[in-house]
Amino acid sequence: MKIICIGRNYVDHAKELKNPLPEKPVFFLKPDSAILRRNQPFFYPDFSNEIHFETELVLKICKLGRHIPKRLANSFYNEIGIGIDFTARDLQAECKKKGLPWEIAKAFDFSAPLGKFRAVSQFKDINNINFSLLVNEEKRQEGNSKDMIFSFDEIIAYISQFLTLKTGDLIYTGTPAGVGPVQKGDQLKAYIENELLLDFKVK
Ligand code: MG
Repeated sequence: MKIICIGRNYVDHAKELKNPLPEKPVFFLKPDSAILRRNQPFFYPDFSNEIHFETELVLKICKLGRHIPKRLANSFYNEIGIGIDFTARDLQAECKKKGLPWEIAKAFDFSAPLGKFRAVSQFKDINNINFSLLVNEEKRQEGNSKDMIFSFDEIIAYISQFLTLKTGDLIYTGTPAGVGPVQKGDQLKAYIENELLLDFKVK
């Protein structure tokens, strides 16, 4: 399986990183070795001094598809969860400056903590889902899927022009504003609405 991540999908986050608003979805990949499951601790890596959290709603792909039209896109994911797109912001800044690919800043081991999923059918309106992140019990990020620049279905339609989507693939759909650094000892809790779906420690 693969993990596809959308960048700059919330206006307020694009602005906080001083990025222009995208005309098309921006995406990059993480390998399956990036996943961190079952609330296991994240060990702060030696190669960075600036690991940032980015809290994101995650789609789970449930069937094979390519060139998926937007009107059919909603049948290609059946679960929505929450995850963290950990980013080595210091390495990313260097890559951006030199015009190099982002993998060392984004795709490293355990850079994609993944919480529990909920069936799409459990949501009243998937284009109005509240989610949030607490670090050490303090609210640090808050988002709602209605503020995405590109909707879930637009993302699927766009990506599937380039990549075949397969059952079990994950799509991290972008972070709202409020990204920030983690420190050893931090406890991260991610919620969809009022439900705690991801809860782990940085060591
Ligand atoms: Mg992200």
